[in-house]
Amino acid sequence: MPKASAVKKSPSLEKLRLAARDAAARAYAPYSGFTVGAAVWTDRGLFTGANVENASYGLTNCAERTAIFAAAAAGARRVERVVVYTPTPSPTAPCGACRQVIFEFGPEAAVVSCCQGADTIETTIGALLPGAFGPADLGVEPADHGAAGAGTGAKASARRAKKTS
Ligand SMILES: [Zn+2]
Repeated sequence: MPKASAVKKSPSLEKLRLAARDAAARAYAPYSGFTVGAAVWTDRGLFTGANVENASYGLTNCAERTAIFAAAAAGARRVERVVVYTPTPSPTAPCGACRQVIFEFGPEAAVVSCCQGADTIETTIGALLPGAFGPADLGVEPADHGAAGAGTGAKASARRAKKTS
């Protein structure tokens, strides 16, 4: 059986920046007023997300995680590039929680922060989260979580086989 096909070439940074900017315009941020949009390029194409706040502040979800969770729910398992947009004079890097979630699906992901101004931060998740805890620490190989179809890796199949016998 052939390996999962390679991820298609990423759209231009400008296209991803515009997608993230559009997403930021849809943010739900009535408390902070700090709107953020994210565009992620994955093995299933482009997904976007915005921050979604909550009156119970701790339940707020960042734009990056919103986008990656939407991608994962659609079957994506590999994040190649994350572009974050904030309507601010200078760019904003992903928070610690988002760095961990980016690493889960994109241990080699490029991360670009854009803003209203011309400045950008272009980096990688490896630089943002050195020495990361990840799937390998729990014995999950990238191939296991590389196959789309949640939990259909060899281990999950083996568990199901045991259960039904
Ligand atoms: Zn975050």
